Amino acid sequence: MPEAPMPIPADRESTIGPATRLECRVCWTVYDPALGDEVWQIPPGTPFNELPPHWSCPNCSAEKTGFLVLDD
Ligand SMILES: [Zn+2]
Repeated sequence: MPEAPMPIPADRESTIGPATRLECRVCWTVYDPALGDEVWQIPPGTPFNELPPHWSCPNCSAEKTGFLVLDD
């Protein structure tokens, strides 16, 4: 019996810390918590996990799930 393919990691949220930057996989826009987001009027210091549910990429409107964690 074949093993089921790996689903999207359920612990993705836990890999996102207060200073974790994420990159839009559609247009490569980076969300940097240290900068916030002028388009959405997100104040600097806002972690990705604390962005409002309706937040989307300020450049291409991709949903938050379309962002990938950037490893420094
Ligand atoms: Zn984008």
